[in-house]
Amino acid sequence: NSGAPDSKNIRVKLVLLGDSGVGKSCIVLRFVRGQFDPTSKVTVGASFLSQTIALQDSTTVKFEIWDTAGQERYAALAPLYYRGAGVAVIVYDITSPESFNKAQYWVKELQKHGSPDIVMALVGNKADLWTNREVPTQDGIDYAENNGMFFIETSAKTADNINQLFEEIAKRLPRPSS
Ligand code: GDP
Ligand code: MG
Repeated sequence: NSGAPDSKNIRVKLVLLGDSGVGKSCIVLRFVRGQFDPTSKVTVGASFLSQTIALQDSTTVKFEIWDTAGQERYAALAPLYYRGAGVAVIVYDITSPESFNKAQYWVKELQKHGSPDIVMALVGNKADLWTNREVPTQDGIDYAENNGMFFIETSAKTADNINQLFEEIAKRLPRPSS
């Protein structure tokens, strides 16, 4: 049934949080443009990219993605950044236990100060670097489960699980009441 009348169009602000260098900008570029540029220094700017996906039930979800220009270094600025966000993607690097600790810090921060109905995803990125893994997959699974979050390991480099990440988030969004 592709009839438009009962289809829903959802628009949601999505922010990414996590240590500098874990791959937040690369995840966004992979999802929005299908690209991976290992040399790109910049973060997508001060900006804002958007991407729409369609779910099987004909719901469309437009993600308005706010990539930080390094504000993640300044914890005091974070509330401005995640204010009004319906989705927070909290990213760590599976080769970096420090980044996993930082991810847990962000989860707590959002639990305290984020919107109460925010959908949170925990992402272990750089899964292609599994030979250098220092954060066991099970640690991510356990932490996410204990905090009511969705968990996935991704690689922005190989594209592994990038689309799945956004699809799973889309499925978990609260549906507007009709
Ligand atoms: P950000 O500071 O969190 O936005 O991190 P970036 O997206 O700028 O990525 C930081 C570095 O990690 C860059 O050199 C990327 O090329 C690299 N990187 C990002 N994602 C991956 C990945 O999935 N695998 C590998 N091997 N490197 C990645
Ligand atoms: Mg960045």
